[in-house]
Amino acid sequence: MFTLTPSHIIQYLYCPRFIYFEYVLQIPEYQEKDFKVNKGREVHAQKTQINKAYLRQKIGAIDKWIGSYLTNDSLRGEVDEVLLLDDDTMAPLDFKFAKYEGRIYDTYKTQLYCYAILIEHNFNKSVDKGFLVYTRSRNKLIEIPIKEAQKTKVSKAALAIQQIIGENTYPKATKFKKRCLNCTYRNICTK
Ligand code: SF4
Repeated sequence: MFTLTPSHIIQYLYCPRFIYFEYVLQIPEYQEKDFKVNKGREVHAQKTQINKAYLRQKIGAIDKWIGSYLTNDSLRGEVDEVLLLDDDTMAPLDFKFAKYEGRIYDTYKTQLYCYAILIEHNFNKSVDKGFLVYTRSRNKLIEIPIKEAQKTKVSKAALAIQQIIGENTYPKATKFKKRCLNCTYRNICTK
């Protein structure tokens, strides 16, 4: 069984058939920008400008693990910072080379949910929140609550993806038909 990245989960939640077309039929998907969760080179340059100690203090972090590459049976991911908080819970912190525009993309949240699962598995501590830092909005810090239901949704998505790829099953289409309008796969996707 291979492990999945947050991008796989994000793709599946957008439309389960993306997984089938891309990883079973091996037809690349060209809307990568919608699913990109990785940060470019610029963000690493930006990170050096951030007063991280101040941010961690504001959050109530008492310990940190930087650039942690974490895995479990089904997921893998590199977390910018894993923080131990003063209430003995842990939290992922993720830097975004982006401006804060008043709403948080679901892709960013899903990425944090994946990290929460990985942190709980590897550190044996509870995770009930995560943090985003928008480096192009003067390092604006946003707290994202993480509930059990959201972690369960990600775990179920991971299982479903393994099934699609492992058993070559053709999944249901997205319920959101608007998503089909500009879809790379619209000409081969049977509705
Ligand atoms: S056309 Fe619609 S159902 Fe088919 S893969 Fe694209 S988004 Fe999913």
